[in-house]
Amino acid sequence: MGLRLACIGGEGAAALLEEGVFSARRLGPRNTPFGVSGPVYECNGSDGILFIPRNGETGYELCSAFVNYRANVYALKDLGAEAVVAWSAVRAISHNFRIGQFSIINDIIDETRQRQGTFFENRGVGTIRQWPVFCPTLRRTLEQILTERQAGFRNEAVYMCTEGPRRETPAELRKYVMVGAELVGNSVAPEVFLAKELQLCYAAITYITDYAEAGGDVRGYEPGGLFEALGMVTDEQRVSDAIEMLPAVLSGLAEKLADMPRDCACGASMEHHIARGEIGPDWRTWFQAEPKQP
Ligand SMILES: [Zn+2]
Repeated sequence: MGLRLACIGGEGAAALLEEGVFSARRLGPRNTPFGVSGPVYECNGSDGILFIPRNGETGYELCSAFVNYRANVYALKDLGAEAVVAWSAVRAISHNFRIGQFSIINDIIDETRQRQGTFFENRGVGTIRQWPVFCPTLRRTLEQILTERQAGFRNEAVYMCTEGPRRETPAELRKYVMVGAELVGNSVAPEVFLAKELQLCYAAITYITDYAEAGGDVRGYEPGGLFEALGMVTDEQRVSDAIEMLPAVLSGLAEKLADMPRDCACGASMEHHIARGEIGPDWRTWFQAEPKQP
């Protein structure tokens, strides 16, 4: 049996939903022991992919700094998801990447400062290996799909997750380059780490909307523009092409995963805690309060 797939997408993915390109039924926000999740959607069609627009349903309503990551990940697990794909916009630190290019990221540096990074507060549980950081089964499958669709992509990239909503200073970007970061965004941490705590497969596919502003003269600040100031029409087109590929990538992924055995270790990431009797085999017993539906 394949894996039930979920997607957590940013503003671009939400716009597809709003425009009806991405057809789905609204299940709404879910109550969890960790608060209320973002609105959950279930895609129409036999694959039934679950979807949460991370930053709101109409535009950028909620900055990534204030997203309830724990509630979102819990809600998806509660609804039966076994694999989660994050679909996110990023800025490239390196100019070796081009606008609209995809990256299936393979490592992350977490520079966020005020997010709840674990489900296991005040307990001795949650010591989890972080290599591989992202699910190898999902990453390999995404690579196959992007290759088949002849999309431009990198199959490895190091993602720097910053708190936001403000942009990085030039000095901060110089520091990030020194530690090996190539892309910068605000949303993959702690999502990936929380998914691991609930033994979910998780991968993140990013597309580049812009370059990080490192203080050089490659592209100066343009008043009144932020995402709009992409410089060239061809860049804008590349970004919208990347966004519009989401429904096809997700359905392709669901199709391939349906016949794929789960040959990764994601589903056993808490096994050592279970073996030591620190938590039970049923994940729902790991948390004191049972979820109540609104
Ligand atoms: Zn996996």
